[in-house]
Amino acid sequence: MKILISADMEGITGVTTWDQVTPGHTEYFRFRKVMTADVNAAVRGACEGGADELVVADGHWNGTNILIEELDPRAKLNTGSPSPLSMMQGIDQSVDGVLFVGYHARQGSRMAVLDHTWSDTCVANVWLNEMPAGEYTMNAALAGHYGVPILMATGDQAACQQMIEQLGALETVAVKQGTGRYSAECLPANITQPMIEQCAKRSVQKLLKKGVLSPFMLKTPIKVTVELQGSDMADRAMLLPGVSREDHKLSFTAEDMPRAYSAFRALVLLSYPR
Ligand SMILES: [Zn+2]
Repeated sequence: MKILISADMEGITGVTTWDQVTPGHTEYFRFRKVMTADVNAAVRGACEGGADELVVADGHWNGTNILIEELDPRAKLNTGSPSPLSMMQGIDQSVDGVLFVGYHARQGSRMAVLDHTWSDTCVANVWLNEMPAGEYTMNAALAGHYGVPILMATGDQAACQQMIEQLGALETVAVKQGTGRYSAECLPANITQPMIEQCAKRSVQKLLKKGVLSPFMLKTPIKVTVELQGSDMADRAMLLPGVSREDHKLSFTAEDMPRAYSAFRALVLLSYPR
């Protein structure tokens, strides 16, 4: 049984500010360690649940956050950027299930720690086939393309709630209760990490019993709409062929989710202020 753990940083235990998740800041080093420990808890649980192959995708910033020297040796690490599938590097038909660790709510959410969608600077909103989308939506739909379900997720209560509403009744661990964008009531790591371990174990055991969610699959072709934060961003992103524009809102249609994912990433990269 092969499990992919896709890890982000904003939904890690104790994180509430950008400094804690941005390389170069003194706080960042502390939270890299906490991120690695949250991921290790998921690795332990997945192994206890029956997984025998584990791949971790480091999906935050430039993908070099997890400390490999502290990573559980049963897992391999996809690190560095850009990689072909970014936060989901390692997903393909050989994976049996995906665990989201450290995820966050989509841009514009209330009482949600560091809510954003891909780029806090550039992206105001994303829709996939007219459905409001967060990073979890895109990543779950990409896994769905390969027939792989999302088994569990960790993050704040807003992220967990959004994922349950959109992806179905997956197992979640709310490691904190957001009280604002930069504030939360946080459980300490010695509480959250055993919760993550237990949840990972349970969700992988469910997979073995075939009692799991079906993969999250979108109807193809897929319409992607991205509302950017500024018109200069839209001017640059419009250079991408096949994109139509209404004010700051750009749309394109992709044949399937891997193409939609890749074009979305290219659009956001182009849109960055320079
Ligand atoms: Zn992130």
